[in-house]
Amino acid sequence: MTVDQDAVVTIAYTLKGDGGEVLDSSENHGDLSYLHGHQNIVPGLEKALAGKAVGDQVDTTVSPDEGYGERRDDLVFSVPRDRLPDGELELGMQFRAQSQDGQELVVNLIEIGDEEVTLDGNHPLAGQDLHFAVTIRDIREATEEEISHGHVHDGSHHH
Ligand code: ZN
Repeated sequence: MTVDQDAVVTIAYTLKGDGGEVLDSSENHGDLSYLHGHQNIVPGLEKALAGKAVGDQVDTTVSPDEGYGERRDDLVFSVPRDRLPDGELELGMQFRAQSQDGQELVVNLIEIGDEEVTLDGNHPLAGQDLHFAVTIRDIREATEEEISHGHVHDGSHHH
């Protein structure tokens, strides 16, 4: 069996940035299982894994347009400090916000001023080339329920 539409694929992976720094690794949180063809992972990686078999190693670089998108300056904005929930503020905190076009997005606190705070709605990896080193550990057929939900049911959670 190879990686194809509606396959449940389990991968070990390391994601590095342009400087070689490790941005994410399955060594830290276990192998990742995803449902292929349902946009569970970034498009560039999904494309690179298509047709591969168990044991294959895939090294690929994903550009922002097939990764987390380009950085958008219009997603960085300031609001009065009192618009945020009460409590201690810390750089890197995340909040849910709504963009001007009504989209729900997660924003990161990137600057704390006396009166205003600056929030960034870009994905932390937006604008970056993503260097993936992947090993395919397992491939199985998805259940009908998984396909209709668009994600893997691995027993640890369900939604
Ligand atoms: Zn489900």
